[in-house]
Amino acid sequence: MGVSRTRVALMGATGSIGTQTIEVLRREPDRFELVALSAGRRIEELAALVNEFGVRRVGVNEDGDRRRLTALVANDVDVVVGERGLRELCADVDVVVNAVMGFAGLPVTLATLEAGARLALANKESLIAAAPVVAHARATPGAQILPVDSEHCAIHQCLAGSSDVGHPDVSRLLLTASGGPFRGWSRTQLSRASKRDALAHPTWRMGPKITIDSSTLMNKGLEVLEASALFGIEVERIDVVVHPQSIVHSMVEYVDGAVLAQLSRPDMRLAIAYCLGAPERMAHHWGRLDFTTSLRLDFEPPDRDAFPALDLAYAAARRGGAAAAWLSAANEVCVDAFLEERIGWSDIVDLVSRTMDDYVDDPLVDLDAVVENDAMARRITHANLPQ
Ligand code: MG
Repeated sequence: MGVSRTRVALMGATGSIGTQTIEVLRREPDRFELVALSAGRRIEELAALVNEFGVRRVGVNEDGDRRRLTALVANDVDVVVGERGLRELCADVDVVVNAVMGFAGLPVTLATLEAGARLALANKESLIAAAPVVAHARATPGAQILPVDSEHCAIHQCLAGSSDVGHPDVSRLLLTASGGPFRGWSRTQLSRASKRDALAHPTWRMGPKITIDSSTLMNKGLEVLEASALFGIEVERIDVVVHPQSIVHSMVEYVDGAVLAQLSRPDMRLAIAYCLGAPERMAHHWGRLDFTTSLRLDFEPPDRDAFPALDLAYAAARRGGAAAAWLSAANEVCVDAFLEERIGWSDIVDLVSRTMDDYVDDPLVDLDAVVENDAMARRITHANLPQ
């Protein structure tokens, strides 16, 4: 048994996607071998995973975390700190799951692709902020991106069989959106939305950053940019459809009018298992759609007036260059400020929009330019926050 198990590295092991990836790996010990782990927080949890899976290569962010971890694990565990050891963690593996949160996930994305491995990408920000740099790394022989993001995972499946360069046989991608907790709310109601309201997602179990992004629809805006970068399809051919049941995870419309959709229960473990095992499909135990009882699937257009984040994302895509990097960076700063209750819910997108007003075209030629643009957008956004 376990003749040639797939070697998996999991970066960002103790967040929401990390934890759900662990649940997938626990179910399939004969298929997968967890060989490297990293986490920037919850070091005790990380140590427990290292011990449970017998992992020998581990990454943490700080020297203090390294000392705490080393005290909790066996002597022969190699613990690296920060970006320095990242290449070691991502080397000699078949799949790296990038479950790091936000722009901080960019070094994992690049290290994985440059090592010629499969990247199971749950970190859309790295792709959005650094699309041309990631595209270059993606050309490494053996490198491949499989999107964990449920919509993109669905599109990846619905595109099977489509010609891959530019997808001329595709007329458009239809990204579905649950609409989040505030679907149907007016602008006046939204101006009073609390942190607790925003964190109460109706269908998905996710971390706080993406849950807030879902409430503003910024998540969907970022997903439009993500889809464009992943599939090489311009945003004019990408539409958003609100689908409150979160069962149709996205659709592809072909030039002949045929629409292919991927459906399943809303459970991130299904997308994670797909990305780890593709092209094989894994039998598992997380429930199936039940067509023996009545099942409704509703679709409606998004309210672009109440949720201006969507149009901001399209505008950033049309602007090109570093505009998407600015949008994503400004949004990270504002979501943090909202979670710390320094700004209100409506301020998130208002402040992102103010940052975008200051954007000056930059072609984003290399990684240094990406890092500079990210830092500049953060500085401007911070300066606009209430002190
Ligand atoms: Mg998604």
